[in-house]
Amino acid sequence: MKLEEIKTVGVAGAGTMGNGIAHVFARAGYAVILRDVEQRFLDRALETISKNLDREIKRGKLAEAEKPAVLARLRPTTKIEDLAAAEIVVEAVPEQAALKKQVLAELGRALPERTLLASNTSSISITALAVTTGRPERFAGMHFMNPVPMMTLVEVIRGIATSEETFGVILGLCEKLGKKPVAVNDAPGFVSNRVLMPMINEAVYAVLEGVATVEAVDQVMKLGMNHPLGPLELGDLIGLDVCLDILEVLHRDLGDPKYRPCPLLRKLVAAGWLGRKTGRGFYVYSAGGATANPAVSGTGVGG
Ligand code: NAD
Repeated sequence: MKLEEIKTVGVAGAGTMGNGIAHVFARAGYAVILRDVEQRFLDRALETISKNLDREIKRGKLAEAEKPAVLARLRPTTKIEDLAAAEIVVEAVPEQAALKKQVLAELGRALPERTLLASNTSSISITALAVTTGRPERFAGMHFMNPVPMMTLVEVIRGIATSEETFGVILGLCEKLGKKPVAVNDAPGFVSNRVLMPMINEAVYAVLEGVATVEAVDQVMKLGMNHPLGPLELGDLIGLDVCLDILEVLHRDLGDPKYRPCPLLRKLVAAGWLGRKTGRGFYVYSAGGATANPAVSGTGVGG
């Protein structure tokens, strides 16, 4: 597959990341087939994309007249067979190895042999996922950052069997989207989450151990380290379930106890307090803004 041959892109999974990935491809002029398992997830994704395009219009990044054309390039579907019209499919289903392997195997059967496949996994081995696709040489990691329309980086991961040609096409595709691809090799968490997740986890331990409140931990990292978001705000943005899934992968696959997920993180996920997407995590989100979750901060909850 040559870069110039790619006209239609499939996205499997229309959640936080899938809708952002569909957004940036449609913005860059590609036809996009967006697949999820239920119509309501597709409806929610299209609503989010429409709102995010409005935000770009407000900031002067997109002409208002262009919005209908961007939306017209998006084709939502619940049928996996519809993805067969794409030259590359990016998988963005939840970060669970068994689910990803099942979805990638289904895609491997449904797509023409020469179609490229990429996974937006945050941490799972690209080499291990590749074997399920029936096309390991045409498979690589394409790790977009959240929120996709705003973040420049795409971490592009080479599995042990990824061909040079595939890797080159995927790097080129990122540039067509106006993103900066950074090439990395396959290892649990790659670079981004190998470094980021232990920091978020350590911030949660600091709260659990009563070292500081949620706001104080975030303030130290924002004011002192110049981070635009504190680690707990960032955990809420990413999704605390996603953070826990990634830490589980790091802990299991690297086998080092330093990656063990903090019990307080497990407790919030068990409560269904997953961060912004559920309206509550380390902070409580309302129309008025975010305030620290009183059930967490400084109460010594945990264990
Ligand atoms: P999400 O839960 O918001 O979305 C996942 C979507 O996949 C859901 O809409 C779900 O219905 C759908 N889905 C489930 N099974 C499916 C199937 N068989 N076919 C098609 N769709 C299916 O999750 P997310 O946060 O968008 O994460 C998706 C992937 O992106 C994960 O691998 C995650 O690690 C990675 N990622 C997430 C972030 C982040 O900040 N959230 C950042 C980078 C990468």
